[in-house]
Amino acid sequence: MYSLGIDLGGTKIEIVAIDEQGREVARKRIASPRGSYNETVATMVGLVGEVERKIGPGNPLGVAIPGSISSRGTIKNANSWWLNGRDLRGDLVRALRRDEVYLENDANCFVLSEAEDGAGHGHEVVWGLILGTGCGSGVAIGRQVLRGRNSLTGEWGHNPLPWMDPEEEQMARSAHCYCGKIGCIETFVSGTGFEREYERLTGQRLPGVELGKLVAAQDGPAMIAYVHYLDRLARAIACYANFLDPDIIVLGGGMSNVDLLYEGLPIFIRRYIFGGEFSTPITKAVHGDSSGVRGAAWLPRIKGQGERPLLLIS
Ligand SMILES: [Zn+2]
Repeated sequence: MYSLGIDLGGTKIEIVAIDEQGREVARKRIASPRGSYNETVATMVGLVGEVERKIGPGNPLGVAIPGSISSRGTIKNANSWWLNGRDLRGDLVRALRRDEVYLENDANCFVLSEAEDGAGHGHEVVWGLILGTGCGSGVAIGRQVLRGRNSLTGEWGHNPLPWMDPEEEQMARSAHCYCGKIGCIETFVSGTGFEREYERLTGQRLPGVELGKLVAAQDGPAMIAYVHYLDRLARAIACYANFLDPDIIVLGGGMSNVDLLYEGLPIFIRRYIFGGEFSTPITKAVHGDSSGVRGAAWLPRIKGQGERPLLLIS
């Protein structure tokens, strides 16, 4: 028995098929048709058809989506704006002639994948953070995604950066977040936030991958930007660890490839965490960029297991 997962990103759409042990038997990635909802659905249907010609028809499908599901069942808060307000689940059910298609927020799929058979395996409370172009997070408890009544669990990126100094308050006022607020954690601790900090200090904008190389080479200006970034990320984590106190924190997204973070974060978090004690492991995602698509493929399996309370879409 196989299951299919699709990661519906703003720039690419990826599909995998996994067997019962989580081994991948098929995978394909193509560019997203930006701006067109109908083309997006057609592309997804085409990918399912292509994979099922290899592995056989009728496999259960999960989809990792940007944004979340509104109370009406339509998509909301997606930065791929052409999805918003659309009944993606219903349209896929009809187009693919399935009884059900399972949709879940991409950060929730990320944490689900890492909790199932990734870095969080064997841990009860897993907090997964994606530090990429934006910043998302998800919480899995007992290998279930905690979605929350308003589909808000893990949306830490749109709270203000804690313990801002006057300079950061000034920065916050000039950097408006797409959510409409100012001073959001996302504007500071996403990969984009790191690029912006380097630009603020040096006047030069470099892609995150290049900055990562400069940090690894201990380049002076890059290290100053990095230490500012590290301190802000440590504050953002400490504030929410004071509330959730997870068993493990798993990092994904482009910034998770900066190896120095895993040494620096525990030290900096102890400066801010209540009581100064913090032994929680912070590790890189085992499945890297594939965590979202793998988590999507796990969705129908988890939903299919009756002994687990249902927190996913029905
Ligand atoms: Zn925001």
